Amino acid sequence: MFRIVATPWRYRYILDSAQGRRSGCFFCAYAEAPERDLEDLVFFRGRHVFGLLNRFPYMWGHAMVAPYRHVGDLVELSDEELAELLRSTYRAKAVIAEAVGCGDIAVGINIGRVAGAGVADHLHVHLVPMCKEIDPSTPSKELEDALRRLAEDLARRFT
Ligand SMILES: [Zn+2]
Repeated sequence: MFRIVATPWRYRYILDSAQGRRSGCFFCAYAEAPERDLEDLVFFRGRHVFGLLNRFPYMWGHAMVAPYRHVGDLVELSDEELAELLRSTYRAKAVIAEAVGCGDIAVGINIGRVAGAGVADHLHVHLVPMCKEIDPSTPSKELEDALRRLAEDLARRFT
C-alpha cells in the first residue's frame, strides 16, 4: 500500500528509537498535554480519540488518528471508542483531502512491529494522501513550520 520514498528526516526518529531514547509512548505524552497541541501537531481532540500530523511524514499531509488510551489492538477498544475512531478517521480523511487538495488517501492500520508500526503498542490509524511526496532536501525547520501551518488549517476545518 505504501511506496518506498526517500525520507531522510525520518532517520533521527529511527535512530532515536533504535537507541532507546523513545522508550516512553509519544501518543500518550501528546494525549496528556493539550496545552502543547500546536507544537505536537495535534489538530483534533474528540472524546476518546485525537488526530495529529506525522512529524516524520512520507507524504504531505500524512496524519494519524489514535485513541487516548494506550492499547495495541482494535479488540481492546470499547464499542464507543471504536465507533469514534472510525467516525473521526472518516472525518479527518475529508478534511485532509480538502486542505491538501488530494482525494487519494491511503487509510490503514499496522498492527504489530513486523507489520511496520513505528509505535507498536499504541494503536493508530494512518491517513496518507498519495499526491505529494516531500522533497527530501527540505530543511527540517521549514518542514516543521509548514507542518504547524497545516495543523492549524486542519484544526480550523475540523471544528
Ligand atoms: Zn501510548
